[in-house]
Amino acid sequence: MENLFIPIGGGNEIGASCYLYIVGGTRLIIDSGIRFDREPFPDFDLLKSIASEVDAILVTHAHIDHCGSIHVLSNLYPEAPIYATNETVQLLSLMVEDAIKVRHIKERNSPQEWKEYKLLDKALTKVERREFFDSIKVGDVEIQFFPSGHIMGASSIKISYDDSSSLFHTGDISLSPQRTVGRAEIPDESVDFLVSESTYLSSSRKKSREEAEEEFFSALRNVFEKKGKVLIPVFALGRAQEIISLMTEGMKEGKIPPVTVYVDGLAREVTNIYENFLRRKLFNFYVQPAPTYEGISFEEACEENLREADCIIATSGMLMEGTPSYIYAKLLSKDPRSAILFSGYLVEESFGYRLLREKELLKSFKCKIESHHFSAHSDRSELLSIVEKLSPRKNVFIHGFPGENFKDHAFNREVVRF
Ligand SMILES: [Zn+2]
Ligand SMILES: [Zn+2]
Repeated sequence: MENLFIPIGGGNEIGASCYLYIVGGTRLIIDSGIRFDREPFPDFDLLKSIASEVDAILVTHAHIDHCGSIHVLSNLYPEAPIYATNETVQLLSLMVEDAIKVRHIKERNSPQEWKEYKLLDKALTKVERREFFDSIKVGDVEIQFFPSGHIMGASSIKISYDDSSSLFHTGDISLSPQRTVGRAEIPDESVDFLVSESTYLSSSRKKSREEAEEEFFSALRNVFEKKGKVLIPVFALGRAQEIISLMTEGMKEGKIPPVTVYVDGLAREVTNIYENFLRRKLFNFYVQPAPTYEGISFEEACEENLREADCIIATSGMLMEGTPSYIYAKLLSKDPRSAILFSGYLVEESFGYRLLREKELLKSFKCKIESHHFSAHSDRSELLSIVEKLSPRKNVFIHGFPGENFKDHAFNREVVRF
């Protein structure tokens, strides 16, 4: 029987991840994310034209480029169960609900927005929680979630089919451990087909994590010495908790002075979920959730927080307009002693990306602006080591921009046979 793999979104791009597998006579969809521009959804019309029904939907992790449209997908396939790890399920509803809110930010409470919340409620009733390494039988295949590092609950997926064949879908993967999540685990045996993410396939890590951390601490010290304030825009899920842990450790080890740090936006709630699963506190005397206020506007609350705290960790990570980090950035922009320190990936449409590149826009900001890089993805050498270890008969890259490796890359809508 012929086996097929088709990226419906998230092939030659980062965003709107959605992959159809027809393997061993079973039809599976892995992930259903969104993009950050005007065309947010994967090509669901194409998907429906190829697969009128599917046997199951699997979600690798709760970043919205992998799950932000799960409610729309589930509405298209109401019979299909949705499998994910315990941690991912816990994070999923919070992340998708917020993504819906942000997408409707210009027209709040529209009928369309409410329709999406209803679809999400319905989709959540289809969710089946599983532990890592549980064996899940769907149709004629067996599925297993492997820890993929990256963020809490993130998984790679192994699918065993036709008695002795198997494939491995990496999801977003990090072979290097981080502060709040361990390193990825890879199957011991080889596989027949490997589908690997390729976010940093064309770049090797220029700086070690230690070097990147030292530079980050030094940037913080410079600002605090001048009595300035720091804004660190972060992704709510993963990066926020890493930066919180890093700041706490930096203070403990005397690499930065003890300062008051407020965590604002969605990162607050996500950190609470992390604390529950990690069974340890991330918030502490110095690093606290930003207080909430009654009877004042959000902007006034931000002003108040900036008076109290020396450092704000706030979402969104890319300074999307209207989000808490964007409002803090505007407030800090007038103060030359202060700084905005980016901590990760910026898509081209984002305000953060433009701020770093457009001279006119940059001139309107008097505060310092720096970009620091902490990655939750494997770099080139690590990605290639996965290919080597699993020695697949065939492998393709997805979730990245095809560089010189374009021949090994699966583009959106491409039919890959294996
Ligand atoms: Zn991710
Ligand atoms: Zn991703």
